[in-house]
Amino acid sequence: MAWLNRVKREALQGDSLGANSALPSSLTDLLASIDAESLVLGSSDVIIFQTSGIATFNLTRDRFLINNSLLTLVRAVRRSGTQQEATMELPRGPIGEGTHDLLVRVTPIGSDGMIAILIFDDSEMRRLDAIRKDFVANISHELKTPIGALSILSEAVLGASDDPVAITRFATRMQAEAQRLSGLVQEIIDLSRLQDGDPLKSGEIVDLVLATKEAADQTELSAESRNISVVLSLPDRVEITGNRDQVIMAIHNLIENAINYSPEGTRVAVALRVSDGLAEISVSDQGIGIPESALERIFERFYRVDAARSRATGGTGLGLSIVKHVATNHGGDVSVWSIEGAGSTFTIRFPLSSTDSQPTLNAVEAK
Ligand code: ADP
Repeated sequence: MAWLNRVKREALQGDSLGANSALPSSLTDLLASIDAESLVLGSSDVIIFQTSGIATFNLTRDRFLINNSLLTLVRAVRRSGTQQEATMELPRGPIGEGTHDLLVRVTPIGSDGMIAILIFDDSEMRRLDAIRKDFVANISHELKTPIGALSILSEAVLGASDDPVAITRFATRMQAEAQRLSGLVQEIIDLSRLQDGDPLKSGEIVDLVLATKEAADQTELSAESRNISVVLSLPDRVEITGNRDQVIMAIHNLIENAINYSPEGTRVAVALRVSDGLAEISVSDQGIGIPESALERIFERFYRVDAARSRATGGTGLGLSIVKHVATNHGGDVSVWSIEGAGSTFTIRFPLSSTDSQPTLNAVEAK
């Protein structure tokens, strides 16, 4: 039972897993200063030190590693006595396509059988790179269209100086194009906010009930102008971990679309609930719907089913790609159900924050 005693001793020594761990402070200081998350295992694989960010990756439970690939690496290091390195792709949450792309380095340290594991998170760099590449490719084209239209329209205005009816017509179109440009600029700003950092790592607790209310409030003017009632169905409290501004932006985009692609006088229903340990926000409209052939593509940047309709509503084709980014970055996903001519329901799901409890009461609030 010497083995068991050693495990117990190491577990006790590493009780705080921080500054007071069984490691000399010079070593913990060094590990804390490296731009990587780190773990140190004792000779019987009990974790005796870990940086706080390790929790994001779901690699450990009760002082032990639970990830098989990492355990295999540790075994290889114990066998060979030499450093091992591997890349790992871990899911960001229980659902969705988001991943952490990690470079993992496992090194023996000292002569007591201790092992240090350094984890470098590449996902942020890759994520930003993907956003940038994808974006630059399309943005110049998207900017050219309204700018080109403004230039042609201003020439037309000059040529029609003695025809007030034509001038009004051209000026109205100029106004629409200018609005489109300003919408595009706003969404570029929104996209740049997606680069604020990993919402799970620097995450705060986000109250989804308040976030949904705020997103709905932001759409009040457009709902009113089209005589559309936005009806909220919210429980008492649902909490997730993430970036509040991004979450509000995603919900806002869905409600704004529901309003824009619906006939006047219809209803948009926004419901928040908890299902299977996930927070689920659905936005349903009685609008024009989306043809089945387009459902696959609507989350792509700059894709629009009907470019003319989207232009008329000031659409940029960026809204849903922002929603998808936000959902994925939070370890969640977004899906759509739609019938042409009848309406659409978009649903975003987020993993609940670990401190959240189940909501109790359903309240319906009409706007
Ligand atoms: P846009 O700025 O054009 O609205 P989005 O990325 O938000 O861009 O949406 C992409 C396309 O998906 C839209 O152009 C529209 O054709 C379609 N769409 C989005 N939401 C809805 C909806 N609620 N009802 C019908 N069509 C929708």
